Amino acid sequence: ELSDKLKKPVTEVIRELIFVGVMAGINQEIDFETAEKLCKKFDVQAIEKEEEEGAVEEDTDLEEDINGVKRSPIITVMGHVDHGKTSLLDAIKQTDVTSTEAGGITQHIGAYTVKVNNETLTFLDTPGHEAFTAMRARGAKITDIVILVVAADDGIMPQTVEAINHCKAAEVPMIIAINKMDKVGANPDRVKQELTEHGLVAEDWGGDVICVPVSAHTREGLEQLLEMVVLSSEMMELKADPDRNAKGTVVEARLDKGRGPVATLLVQNGTLKVGDSIYVGTTYGRIRAMFNDKGEKIKEAGPSMPAEILGLSDVPSSGERFVVAKDEKTARARADKKAESIRQEKFQKSHKVSLEDLYSQIQEGKVKELDLIVKADVQGSVEAIIQSLEKLSTNTVKVRVIHGAVGAISETDITLASASNALIIGFNVRPTVNASAMAEKEEVEIKTYRIIYDALEDIKSAMVGLLDPEY
Ligand code: GDP
Repeated sequence: ELSDKLKKPVTEVIRELIFVGVMAGINQEIDFETAEKLCKKFDVQAIEKEEEEGAVEEDTDLEEDINGVKRSPIITVMGHVDHGKTSLLDAIKQTDVTSTEAGGITQHIGAYTVKVNNETLTFLDTPGHEAFTAMRARGAKITDIVILVVAADDGIMPQTVEAINHCKAAEVPMIIAINKMDKVGANPDRVKQELTEHGLVAEDWGGDVICVPVSAHTREGLEQLLEMVVLSSEMMELKADPDRNAKGTVVEARLDKGRGPVATLLVQNGTLKVGDSIYVGTTYGRIRAMFNDKGEKIKEAGPSMPAEILGLSDVPSSGERFVVAKDEKTARARADKKAESIRQEKFQKSHKVSLEDLYSQIQEGKVKELDLIVKADVQGSVEAIIQSLEKLSTNTVKVRVIHGAVGAISETDITLASASNALIIGFNVRPTVNASAMAEKEEVEIKTYRIIYDALEDIKSAMVGLLDPEY
């Protein structure tokens, strides 16, 4: 076919193919890149034909579908350890009358839906900001609203602050659930006071942050909390188009002894159907069967719905995106292409921000905001450093500290840095062994200093392109 189009003898085309390293037979399919190289040799420009509409969408953009219809919000619960995330998720699960009526118990598939006054809410079942940011590092943005749980008797704790900063970095709105109101010593005003220190001002204090006092134990305030979630989501005008081919994100996946790879997919746009061929990262397959969060067999899942599916060739990673292709062959080709591009990417330089090439990235317009994560040995230094660093902002580059805290540089810090393309700065602290290894893998740059002045000088120099290369 190609030799016809090029008006060259087949033998010549095959010979040239061998020169570019492809041992092809006459009926062999070659990919576009190879065809392009080959055409160049004949001074012909190859143009890739658009695939049929809806068949393949290379970039799985998940932006709001403005032509779509209303979709349910997807919610993640975050907060400090022991503040009641799991208890709250469990209590919310039990508000769903439909599951109790049917006598069915919610199955753990990684996400579940709850009906509140005829509105459906979808909850992700893995609480915490670690999972949230790990997904974001893979490019997945699924959460519309975060419920931040703060125990009324304990107040804002280090992981609460982390959660707040992770939400801010992801630009996801938060609703505060002040939990454990049944406990003696519950002090919601103290929580609100502490929230203001992180720029979150409660509505009844003149701000715009919704705070709802609740108890996961007595169920006090639960209804109100869920109503607030519904209200906020209505204002967000979330939309999707159920008539399109589905795309979305893997929430969870595992290998089941009897059933093979099992994955929970969250549909973010379109409708996913049994029989659809999908590709997810480097795996693909035809959906053999689908189940909802009640363990019931379903035939299709619309926007914001989680579905457990069977039929993939391999176990995908959570946070990976899936797309429906026109047939299994295309799905497989897309998965293979992805595997190939991953192999090639390994050889290419990453585009993660680093101090050494900050200046050139600024020049090229790639960096307009330098995001930093600051870890130090004492709280006083954290605040002093954040202030001095942010003062380095210029007209062209804004320096922004997205997270600052006391303690060693942890794996969560690396994930946040990777997801937000940020640099990590440590003062008198070092990364943990695991964090170091992870930073290397994720290509996140960590700089450690003993003196604030040195850090400021380094960043200032890097911003104007004067940093001496490190040897
Ligand atoms: P997580 O670590 O944030 O998931 O917290 P858990 O849900 O595991 O809860 C930690 C502890 O707090 C458990 O012992 C719960 O029973 C308790 N707890 C959670 N919510 C409440 C509540 O509303 N009232 C009281 N009194 N205890 C609670």
